[in-house]
Amino acid sequence: MMQAYLSIGTNIGEREQNLRDAVSMLLAQDEIAITAISSIYETAAVGYTEQDDFLNIAVALETKLDALELLAQCQKVENDLGRIREFRWGPRIIDLDILLYNNEKYETESLIIPHPRMYERAFVLVPLEEIMTQKYVMLEGVLEALQALDIEKEGVKLWKKIATVEEFVPFES
Ligand code: AMP
Repeated sequence: MMQAYLSIGTNIGEREQNLRDAVSMLLAQDEIAITAISSIYETAAVGYTEQDDFLNIAVALETKLDALELLAQCQKVENDLGRIREFRWGPRIIDLDILLYNNEKYETESLIIPHPRMYERAFVLVPLEEIMTQKYVMLEGVLEALQALDIEKEGVKLWKKIATVEEFVPFES
């Protein structure tokens, strides 16, 4: 089994429901088992700031899919949830990013792992820190990056505490 971490974000419509729908769609796939889910955090948009605040979670999963297959599944979830991409950095119903995959590095046209911007984004690292287990080598560097982002961290507000996957998507388990 391969281990991977995802970041999921949304800032349109019923944001919490969008997150639940995305997690349910991942759980519905036989090849993916979700092992941990973070609390929900809220952050003001970065980049293009004239848009609503984001909710973000981090998800840990185990899968038999290779990294490109996992990316395809993430993109399917984005498409199925009706994401309309108007412009880069703009508002979105749902965005799924692969942060880390089994301690492997990828640099292809369609996939870069570790995710190229994860170490600069407190809204990615704060939820990730909540669910990470130190035994995975691939998580090295996360705590150091978080320390460097001390000020940005303050902008990442705990929005709803989530303790278990079952609590988040009760009907799927
Ligand atoms: P975004 O606007 O952040 O959803 O970017 C989506 C694009 O980023 C897609 O075309 C992906 O092929 C590409 N991409 C590169 N690396 C990753 C990654 N680690 N996770 C998700 N998408 C990625």
